[in-house]
Amino acid sequence: MSIRRLGRALQIVRVFATNVGSESFCVTDRRLFMLNFNERMLLWNILNYPMKVVCRSVVTFELLHIVSLVCYCKVGCGGNLQEWGIYLICGVCHQLSMPVLRKERNVSCSDYFEGRRLYERNLGEVVLYECTVCGFAAFEELCHWSEDQFKSEIYNADYYLCDPPFGDVRPRKLSAWLSCVLAPGDLIDFGGGEGVLSALLNERGFQSQSYDPFYGNVQFPMDKADVVTAFEVVEHVPNQHALFHQMLNILKPHGLIIFSTLLKPTQLAQDWWYASPRNGHVSFHSVPSLGSLMRDLGLSHISLSSEIHVAARELSLLDDAAKWLPISINDTPEYFFDKDWSRLAKRP
Ligand SMILES: [Zn+2]
Repeated sequence: MSIRRLGRALQIVRVFATNVGSESFCVTDRRLFMLNFNERMLLWNILNYPMKVVCRSVVTFELLHIVSLVCYCKVGCGGNLQEWGIYLICGVCHQLSMPVLRKERNVSCSDYFEGRRLYERNLGEVVLYECTVCGFAAFEELCHWSEDQFKSEIYNADYYLCDPPFGDVRPRKLSAWLSCVLAPGDLIDFGGGEGVLSALLNERGFQSQSYDPFYGNVQFPMDKADVVTAFEVVEHVPNQHALFHQMLNILKPHGLIIFSTLLKPTQLAQDWWYASPRNGHVSFHSVPSLGSLMRDLGLSHISLSSEIHVAARELSLLDDAAKWLPISINDTPEYFFDKDWSRLAKRP
């Protein structure tokens, strides 16, 4: 790549950084000139050809920043990102997503609670992209995995290590909470694992069934229910629109969807324990992204806390739910990764 073109790239990046006025978007001259041959070739391609970007072959985090910035600058002025074929687009609002965090693939949420790595290391890193508009974040690479890959790499015999409350503790807490806030009725627990929550609710007078593509009953329900629950499911699913369409297909017209997923800060400035690939966590909502998704689907929703949310087809159906006291799903971990993915330190 010629120095002239490199200078042009830098100029584009600079202009953008100035306009946005955000430190996180700044790319220094030095960093740009540190690119190796392959990286420079990639940048050359991006600057010279339409946006059929081959970002999957990109190796460095720094370069991903540059690539994203250049893509943005080329199509940012009224261009339709999808028309250009850029795949670094937000799965919720279809605007540009930027790389904000890379994490070793075997880091699990439990690591942050136990203060040690629970899984074998060196499976490489995955990059978390965050939407510059709505704040939705996703591990892009994992979003393209097949169901079989998820089964063998994530939802395998060792899965229980990364989420110990999954099997028993969480379903018990949730069945006690649901039977406090709901009158017994029809309920489908979407992503309900082995069906423990459903079984416990049936003991409390509900007519509940569980569905999960990876565990227990894998047959998609044929019935519709008054209530569809999905606890700690949303963050596991790459396609958010498809997930909620599936839930709406099994929800009666005046029914409620009760779901939990921990909302992230609108702009992610640093490592975040919930974004842990080994758990199969791939999708993360901010307050605006969840609102955007619900509007797209024609749903009204309320968040009872940063974890518990209730949605329905009409706002008036949420009147009772607005008075519920939320249950706490996740505790706050005591540890954080200090410097790299091997050293955990205790929070002060
Ligand atoms: Zn977005």
